[in-house]
Amino acid sequence: MNYPVIKSKSKRPYQICKCCVMDTSDEDIVFDSNGVCMRCNEYKERIEPEWNHGKGHEKELEELLSAIKKSGKDKKYDCILGLSGGLDSTYMLHLAVKEWGLRPFVFHIDAGWNLPVAEENIRKVTEKLGVKLHIEHMNWDEMREMQLAWFRTGLEMLDAPQDHAFISLIDKYSQKLGVKYILNGYNVCTEVVADPASWEKGSGPTGDGTYIRDVVDKYCNIPIKNYTYTNGIRHKFIIPYVKGVKTIKPLNLVEFTKESMIKTLSEEYEYIPYGQKHFEDLITKFLEGWWQPTRFGHDIRRAQLSSLVVTGQMSRDEALKILEQPPLSEEESQELFKEVCSKLGILEEELKKYHEMPECTDKFKSQEKIYKFGIKVYEKIGLEKRVRK
Ligand SMILES: [Zn+2]
Repeated sequence: MNYPVIKSKSKRPYQICKCCVMDTSDEDIVFDSNGVCMRCNEYKERIEPEWNHGKGHEKELEELLSAIKKSGKDKKYDCILGLSGGLDSTYMLHLAVKEWGLRPFVFHIDAGWNLPVAEENIRKVTEKLGVKLHIEHMNWDEMREMQLAWFRTGLEMLDAPQDHAFISLIDKYSQKLGVKYILNGYNVCTEVVADPASWEKGSGPTGDGTYIRDVVDKYCNIPIKNYTYTNGIRHKFIIPYVKGVKTIKPLNLVEFTKESMIKTLSEEYEYIPYGQKHFEDLITKFLEGWWQPTRFGHDIRRAQLSSLVVTGQMSRDEALKILEQPPLSEEESQELFKEVCSKLGILEEELKKYHEMPECTDKFKSQEKIYKFGIKVYEKIGLEKRVRK
């Protein structure tokens, strides 16, 4: 196919952080006089002291677990856990059930893109833990059309149909089941360096139904009737503050590393790791492993590896060495390209046309301003634990 990974499309002179591996492929990156990026500085100043690598949070965890159990007394479930089959959500399920004695409602979205290895992992872990898995099967004709719609926009972030569905379903289940706690797998350990906002240009926030509906209205050729939407106000304000449903991130209260997670899951459940974060899903693997690096010059591994570097789990040299190789080999990329075309039922020429089209200049309706304001407030009161830039 001969589409090389682009180093960077940014017009800025190339520069890379002296501490992590974030570089000017993020157009908005800011370096201090020592050549250290703002993400590293923010991690050191704001996040590491409080997180402390998961150490010293025993009392907080204990109180949290007893509050969850109390809230779920006499109910079938005491919390909700969305299981993608990825490392973080799977490890959280292991801790929740085996170590903490919680009774989560565990659900998984089947949007048509699951890879067999992920399905197998999910089966092995839930069976061994004796947990009933609720699978939400999305309407494939609609998911297919929505995925094509996002390709037609020329935007970079094309995972929106699946990501939004996940958030909407969490909101829906929390209301339906009357459960007061949602377990969120976000963790400082492997995710503290978020994907740069500059890579998401033109897209609305993932949980923002206004944006999702606008793309659907403009770019879908069939009516979308079965898809569940949510919106920022419902998700970020009404459900947590009016309905009192708390989204908690308990992985930040325990000590672990990416390696120790893999070891535990492999030993206890014969869990098979995927090689790269989010590679449990065909479309995400294709988008993050090939589409973004070759069309936009953005390699999501920069953020993922930087998280490991700043938290001391990997040396910067090791991370740089990994980045020298493309995320997927030429053969793997070609195979994925064909598989995605075949799943979507389109000719390879059509997908190539989307890959070569100009970047999106269309403006979509969104609640972005409300979101940004919310993040600022959350940062001020110490609720935002991610370096979002
Ligand atoms: Zn840095």
